[in-house]
Amino acid sequence: MILVSSCLAGNKVRYDGGHCLQEVIETLVREGKAVTVCPEVMGGMSTPREPSEIIGGDGFDVLDGRARVVSISGEDVTEAFLKGANEALQVARKYSATTIVLKEESPSCGSSLVYDGTFTGMKVNGHGVTAALFKREGYDVYNEKQWLKQWE
Ligand code: SF4
Repeated sequence: MILVSSCLAGNKVRYDGGHCLQEVIETLVREGKAVTVCPEVMGGMSTPREPSEIIGGDGFDVLDGRARVVSISGEDVTEAFLKGANEALQVARKYSATTIVLKEESPSCGSSLVYDGTFTGMKVNGHGVTAALFKREGYDVYNEKQWLKQWE
């Protein structure tokens, strides 16, 4: 089983109420070969919601208590992000997922790039909170661009 970011399957769970549909991924979900998670929704956040960014590090630093996740209005949403990451991990275990495909650049799902915490659109190398947790737990984590190359 493959675990994928829900927005990649076309579900409208992004902070702005949109999605990031990748038709290959949507098809795999429809065929029962992939299961979706949206860590931010699973952490209790609403859709739409304010954009959030990691301040003071990346997802690994959040897991270790050295960085926080903060919304654009200054609300500390770290606990929701941690809860969502753990819920997503439980889904992966439940379905014995062997491959994790997560949406790049998200403060939850990014696995190479995340926004830098200034809300200016600048990106830095790093992981979102959920991607960091999956990697720490030993999973192979891919972003959608890496993973979809095999279908080109
Ligand atoms: Fe949800 Fe991750 Fe998609 Fe953001 S990138 S909407 S947290 S699934």
